[in-house]
Amino acid sequence: MRNYTKQYINGAWVESESGKTIDVVNPATEEVFGCIAKGNQADVDKAVQAAKEVYVSFRHTPVEERQAMLGRIIEAYKARKQDLIDVMTLELGTPVTKSEKVHYEMGLKHFQAAYDALETFEFEERRGDNLIVKEAIGVAGLVTPWNFPTNQTSLKLAAAFAAGAPVVLKPSEMTPFAAIILAEIFDEAGVPKGVFNLVNGDGEGVGTPLSQHPDVRMMSFTGSGGTGSKIMAEASKDFKKVSLELGGKSPFILLDDADLDEAVQAAVAKVVNNTGQVCTAGTRTLVPEHLKDAFLEKAATEMAKVKVGDPQLSETEVGPIVSEKQYNQVQTYIQKGIDEGAALVYGGLGKPEGLTTGYFAKPTIFADVDNQMTIAQEEIFGPVMSVITYKNLDEAIQIANDTKYGLAGYVYGKDHEKLKKLARSIEAGTVIINKAPRTPDLPFGGYKQSGIGREWGDYGIEEFLEVKAIAGFYQ
Ligand code: NAD
Repeated sequence: MRNYTKQYINGAWVESESGKTIDVVNPATEEVFGCIAKGNQADVDKAVQAAKEVYVSFRHTPVEERQAMLGRIIEAYKARKQDLIDVMTLELGTPVTKSEKVHYEMGLKHFQAAYDALETFEFEERRGDNLIVKEAIGVAGLVTPWNFPTNQTSLKLAAAFAAGAPVVLKPSEMTPFAAIILAEIFDEAGVPKGVFNLVNGDGEGVGTPLSQHPDVRMMSFTGSGGTGSKIMAEASKDFKKVSLELGGKSPFILLDDADLDEAVQAAVAKVVNNTGQVCTAGTRTLVPEHLKDAFLEKAATEMAKVKVGDPQLSETEVGPIVSEKQYNQVQTYIQKGIDEGAALVYGGLGKPEGLTTGYFAKPTIFADVDNQMTIAQEEIFGPVMSVITYKNLDEAIQIANDTKYGLAGYVYGKDHEKLKKLARSIEAGTVIINKAPRTPDLPFGGYKQSGIGREWGDYGIEEFLEVKAIAGFYQ
């Protein structure tokens, strides 16, 4: 059992003031495998106070010092590779290979991207006799979701540290152990006390007091729109800055000149990756009308190859859904798809054969989906593909943008002029053409209800900075 009932505050592991705990469940076995502190207002107050005390000195540390600190974090992070992989496989249910190649690597890349960004990042700019200075905003509250335990935390932490902002982190209570290892990594790397504080607990007990705290100057949140809106409402009371990374319902648009085999593989991967629990999942698959039958046949064959099962096995590609609640939500959406008249082509309700224990869902394909159906408009957060047909490029663009979200878009085909037209037309923070890699130096964030602000690399650092104009500095 992993019982970590302490909080990391002011450079030390301390007992939570609440004396209460939250169980953490392994979604592949449905068994409790550990617990964390159920933090409260008093824990938050202590953590914010510690961060506040170190704010001025951390803000003024030379950039080289903060960069060196990120360098030490990178080394300490690498040294804990196996522990991070093990813990994410237990708490999130990601197959071991994905825990390594996706989750572990993404966390590492964000620290590296922040380190690299500091090589050239301009914190000061002279304009005539005047100076513009960018400096850390103050104590930042970070609240993160469960679906990418190292990625979501590391990208915020790397940016805040690079900017010189001390933080209080509240990770998801469903996947808290990766963040506990991060705390140990920062301790090992000599992050000054007070700069990083970890308060475990739930949204009500820790997230709300953090959003309300008068000494927190910024809330950086990743998660659902409902929670984002609550945090924004709390933050608005004393005009805290907010950075919100929320949900998505991203289109994957297939051109009619695409290599169909390759495109089908890419489309299926965009749906099943991380068991569909990805904010940028390309789950609205837009296919030219005349290619519908050929696409569906190949997509069903491709889905059938996806190995769902025990995340501890190296051949497994897709693990369970993170929790019973999320599993039930996926089932409800599949039922809605059936009820609203979409054609179930593959998968469907219930668990895959032979997987009765664990929150395993069936990779699923719906055809004849109208973009107004619930399964085309709402985020399912499970491995469910909705195939929608289009007649021409203008209609594809219209369907792609007919959503409250705007997080990502994928375009696949050969005619580069058409691909570029689509990429410029999609209203989303990220568009990926074919297999182009999405590197961590590119900004990440959403249009419309997918969020406010941008993260990753230098754009992420900007989020944690205030801008000061000093007139006459050079007179
Ligand atoms: P969630 O909103 O339920 O929880 C996210 C975090 O907020 C958790 O740590 C939770 O404890 C905390 N929280 C809950 N209520 C709170 C409150 N009132 N005040 C402050 N904090 C509170 O989201 P989730 O279920 O963990 O994650 C899934 C959602 O996250 C999906 O909608 C997904 O699209 C979104 N997401 C977005 C991105 C992105 O970058 N855009 C990335 C990953 C996930």
